[in-house]
Amino acid sequence: MKKQILIAGGGIGGLAAALGSARAGWDVRLYERAPAFTEVGAGVQLGPNVVRCLQAWGLRDALQAVAAFPERIAVRSARSGAELAHMRLGADIAQRYGAAYAAIHRADLQGLLLDAARQQANVHLSLNHTALDCRQEGGVVTLRLSCPADEAGRGDKSIEVEGDALLGADGLRSRIRTQLLGQEPMRSSGHLAYRAVVAQQDLPAALRSMQVTAWLGPRLHVVHYPVRRGELLNIIAIRHGQAPADLDSWDHGANAAELEAALAQTCAPLQDLIRAVPHAGSGWRLWPLLDRPPVAGAHQMAQGLVALLGDAAHPMRPYLAQGAGMAIEDATQLQHSLAMSELEVVLRLRRYALNRWQRNARVQERARRNGVIFHARGPVRWGRDTAMRLLGARLLDVPWLYRGGSAAE
Ligand SMILES: Cc1cc2nc3c(=O)[nH]c(=O)nc-3n(C[C@H](O)[C@H](O)[C@H](O)COP(=O)(O)OP(=O)(O)OC[C@H]3O[C@@H](n4cnc5c(N)ncnc54)[C@H](O)[C@@H]3O)c2cc1C
Repeated sequence: MKKQILIAGGGIGGLAAALGSARAGWDVRLYERAPAFTEVGAGVQLGPNVVRCLQAWGLRDALQAVAAFPERIAVRSARSGAELAHMRLGADIAQRYGAAYAAIHRADLQGLLLDAARQQANVHLSLNHTALDCRQEGGVVTLRLSCPADEAGRGDKSIEVEGDALLGADGLRSRIRTQLLGQEPMRSSGHLAYRAVVAQQDLPAALRSMQVTAWLGPRLHVVHYPVRRGELLNIIAIRHGQAPADLDSWDHGANAAELEAALAQTCAPLQDLIRAVPHAGSGWRLWPLLDRPPVAGAHQMAQGLVALLGDAAHPMRPYLAQGAGMAIEDATQLQHSLAMSELEVVLRLRRYALNRWQRNARVQERARRNGVIFHARGPVRWGRDTAMRLLGARLLDVPWLYRGGSAAE
């Protein structure tokens, strides 16, 4: 009989895991608490290490149809506007690492994973199901969920489902993680991210862009890149600051003025772009950036019949643009490990965790360090800019990252 994996969470990580597990020959039951599979309106960059995983799942054409493939990445001084370094992406990087560098709208990435998961007969997806807790006994894991009491979505009831394994892919505030590792406070980075997506055609011609650009300034940086075949421009501005206490009732309309004030000392082209957003798109949305210390061992990614994946296991700052990428790599490794039918399930999950924790920890730490370098002031900033001018692409390339990560079949 087929083994069955229960997955809590249907974000990019959970859907990738559903696809990988199904391809390993397992039955999959995925539970998402939201009433629909939706992603925030923002983009993600996908390095060649991640694109390789998607291609191995047969998603090359689907990716080609919706993503943008920037030709170049440029790093500029936010103050002077001068270019500090650049690296060619496009064919260059594809040749070097066997896959392209892509930039994609999150909804498009989620959509292509969802379509691929739905095409697998052994994947069952349930919305409106919130994972509450779990227990392991006698080779079986039981997940308790809350879900609507009737078909019309009224009321609430609690149900239990059993499986051979459980995966917590329930994000930054994962309940499955708390069950496994206990309550641990999240770490505030003290950084705020403002995100916006605008139609390129609604921007003045001088502000449209088909490359990845990072503008580095004291205590802030801005990154923008094209998504959806280049039709949209995704912009992320990050600055030091504390989040409002009640983010849910936060007036997102106030973000534009705050951000413009924070960027008052930056060069004119950057200020022009930031000012154009409220007119060209739906405006800025604010995210306080939280993370956790790097994974400290395999036991933090799997114990017994329960494993963690993506942000539930290793939330990271976005300064290496690899959070979703690591979730997809996790899913690829999970596929490899679940397919090892000669091993007990506990050992398969242990193998998954052993193969993933160090890479995830390294990426988490490198992302944190990048934030410090990006936002540097004084002599550190001077040293950074000099090194960038001298070393250029050699400093922007990350071979250990882009080469690593295994692609499943
Ligand atoms: C500003 C910013 C920029 C970024 N840029 C990039 C980038 O360029 N490249 C990149 O690779 N990554 C990037 N990331 C990181 C990336 O967004 C995340 O790492 C990734 O989305 C994590 O996916 P996930 O599926 O693990 O978690 P999530 O996306 O958080 O998904 C978790 C899912 O679980 C569901 N859920 C939660 N609790 C429960 C429960 N109890 N029961 C059932 N379901 C539940 C949620 O509704 C959600 O659907 C960025 C992040 C930020 C903040």
